[in-house]
Amino acid sequence: MALEWVSGAVELRCPVCAHSEGQELLARVDVTWRDAGVEIARCSACGAIVLGAMLPPSMYTDADWDWYVEQIGGVEAIADTLAQTGMRRGARMLDVGCGYGFALDVARFLYEWEGIGLDPSIAAARGRRDLDLDIRPGTLDDAFDPDERFQVIFSSEVLEHIADPMEFLRAVHRRLAPDGIVVLTTPDARAVTPQTPWTILFPVLSVGLHEFLVDADGLERMLRDAGFHAKVWQIGFGLHAVGSLDPRALDAVTPGACAPRKDLASYAEMRCDEAAQGSALELGMAGRQLKWMVSSEDFARASAHLPKLRQALHDRYSIDLDDPKQIVGRPGVPPVLTPVFCNLGILRLWYEQDAPRAADCFEAAAWAGRAQWDVYGQYQDPETPAYEALARGHLASTLARVAPERVPAVLQELDEGMARGAGDEDVVAAAKARVNAEFALRRSRTRRILRRARSVAGGARRRLRRAIRGRPWSGRRA
Ligand SMILES: [Zn+2]
Repeated sequence: MALEWVSGAVELRCPVCAHSEGQELLARVDVTWRDAGVEIARCSACGAIVLGAMLPPSMYTDADWDWYVEQIGGVEAIADTLAQTGMRRGARMLDVGCGYGFALDVARFLYEWEGIGLDPSIAAARGRRDLDLDIRPGTLDDAFDPDERFQVIFSSEVLEHIADPMEFLRAVHRRLAPDGIVVLTTPDARAVTPQTPWTILFPVLSVGLHEFLVDADGLERMLRDAGFHAKVWQIGFGLHAVGSLDPRALDAVTPGACAPRKDLASYAEMRCDEAAQGSALELGMAGRQLKWMVSSEDFARASAHLPKLRQALHDRYSIDLDDPKQIVGRPGVPPVLTPVFCNLGILRLWYEQDAPRAADCFEAAAWAGRAQWDVYGQYQDPETPAYEALARGHLASTLARVAPERVPAVLQELDEGMARGAGDEDVVAAAKARVNAEFALRRSRTRRILRRARSVAGGARRRLRRAIRGRPWSGRRA
């Protein structure tokens, strides 16, 4: 997929405001499924970014969903979004376009919300089975009794796929309880510039899947036009919005709030224990459990969890958690190994104080990330390149302690990784600063040892001189 930034005018119908003529052409994307490519324009009436063509309905396979369940899922982002609502425990929730159903499942676990999902995909069939959720096909208008209302209507990364988003928002309005809130997330149109790195721009555009993108002002306007009071904020290149019928329902909303990672670790533990042996869900949750325990610095619990992770990894991929070197150099290894071995490396380094074993883990993690790029020629998800860069940075600073001669080659790989999208300048600079700190520490340690040796030697010389001066025979010899 190649994107070329261009200029000019084009006729393209805007899904938000229905304006068509004289749209500002921004870019053209070559795709395999359409000879003419896909045009990307900015609506001259409302400012939305409009994508000129869509793929036929999704052809995701079971294997795609395995990968989603194992590594992608966005459970953390979903949980944070739920935490930001400030909604009371036990609320009645509807998730529109719920997919596999992680949001319903997390909301049930963390907040005891009772949920129903709407989704026709095979992911929904799997979520119904694996997570024991009430997920229905159908629409907001026909899936329930006409009078049924919800306190939370959640719809994450769905709006941008809808050809008539204003009609969708009006349907949500009809289903919302008087004290309820609608919670939306969607990519931010501000990302659509030539300056945005491809690893961010690629998922934001999702050419062939997304109909349109708006910025924060555009989303707020859409919600108000559909009859809601609204609060919209940005997190990275994502927009978060909460809308309500009663303005007081927005008082509890806390932009930027996060779900405690230790609670997420408990959620992952429950899911891992209940999942089928050798399943994507079991390994995915075992890996997330390690991640959240490490990020909440609960290292003792993370260490106690390793036997379960070891078993899950073995059952699913016949890979030995204690032998990370076996995957280095192997093509096409599963990308989930990138976060798994990176977090394991952090545990080995900080908790077990075992730098050589930590270095092996970081090397395996960096390799697994790179292997994804080697297979596809681009990264398929944002987590893999982020963890690849993090692991390589930790590898460099760990090697500075145990094998300094290998550091220059790893730093060079860090720069090469950044050029293909693994890490940015901040990540690379932070890694290099840690390497320099390690080397400075080594030098100061060496200086300290030298100083101590010199002072010991000096003391010995002084004692020797005194001894020589004090002895009758020394004077005679001098
Ligand atoms: Zn428009």
